[in-house]
Amino acid sequence: MADKIKFGFLLAGGCAGCETALVDISERLVDALDHLEVVFWAPTVADVKYKDLEAMEDGYIDLAFVDGMVRNTENEHTVKVLRQKSKTLVAFGACASLGGIAALGDMHSKKELFDQAYKDTFSTDNPEGILPEPQCLWEGKYDLTLPAFTKRVSTIDQLVDVDYYVGGCPPHHDFIFQLIQAVVSGNLPPKGSWLTSGKAVCDVCKRNPAEHDQQRLPIGEVYRTVEGLPDEDKCLLQQGYICFGPVTQGDCQASCLNVNIPCRGCGGPIPGVRDYGARCVSMVASSLKDDQTAEKLIAKFNDMAKFCYRYSYSSGILNQKLTPGNKA
Ligand code: SF4
Ligand code: SF4
Ligand code: SF4
Repeated sequence: MADKIKFGFLLAGGCAGCETALVDISERLVDALDHLEVVFWAPTVADVKYKDLEAMEDGYIDLAFVDGMVRNTENEHTVKVLRQKSKTLVAFGACASLGGIAALGDMHSKKELFDQAYKDTFSTDNPEGILPEPQCLWEGKYDLTLPAFTKRVSTIDQLVDVDYYVGGCPPHHDFIFQLIQAVVSGNLPPKGSWLTSGKAVCDVCKRNPAEHDQQRLPIGEVYRTVEGLPDEDKCLLQQGYICFGPVTQGDCQASCLNVNIPCRGCGGPIPGVRDYGARCVSMVASSLKDDQTAEKLIAKFNDMAKFCYRYSYSSGILNQKLTPGNKA
């Protein structure tokens, strides 16, 4: 057998759901391990330290995945070191590729975020209002350090060069296996590409009106998912439930639609889209019948920016403007 591909996996600022999705390919992971040698997987799986990564020769790792966004100085450091040690770096999942859910925090100031996390939540018991500090002297003798909070969330490619991107929050396990097969066989698109089937969620959705010889019509009503149960066979967008399927990569095989939930866009943009959140806004606006429907939409979704940029705020052009997060 040819030499195994040396594989690394780093969780930056995410929730580790992407790593769970990789493990979720179950017994097929055993087949994949015939071709992959795991040389680094931190901090969740293997008992390796960051200094082990720092000690590797540059380019030692053939293929590295990063999941999670860059949220603190530790993420910044480890992502930069991993880039240096890896021949090919993949931004794996919505957080790494687009900023992910946590990037919505950049619509708030650091003070708002810290107050919410460490003071104001129902379950928090912090009468002195103590907040984390990057450095503190404990009991007068222990000099403790914590990673510092960055001014804003970054995608991986806002920090280092990225070779490939994978969407999903998390990526779908079936698609991950196809991805590993593509990597092992060397059957990869040009550098800088998203690794995707290239189909939109609508293309793989069994509700697509085109599959039933029906035309898409402008929608005159808008519903939130808590308002009743949609028809399980008809297009959700046509029923008035906002669905980002037309502009989202469908490597999940329309999993949400299969359980009667609209697509929220975790798969990332279909090819050629520069600002995914803006494309979601434009897709929704062009689906509405008239101004009255737009007013209904705005009344029902009172936080449209977060709704449309749910997974992609860091990568959006709008986020390049000054936001409360930038000032923190
Ligand atoms: S993309 Fe989703 S599953 Fe993956 S790290 Fe981010 S929040 Fe977690
Ligand atoms: S808009 Fe949503 S429900 Fe309609 S076909 Fe596309 S993915 Fe399916
Ligand atoms: S249907 Fe949309 S939100 Fe659901 S898993 Fe697929 S891409 Fe993500």
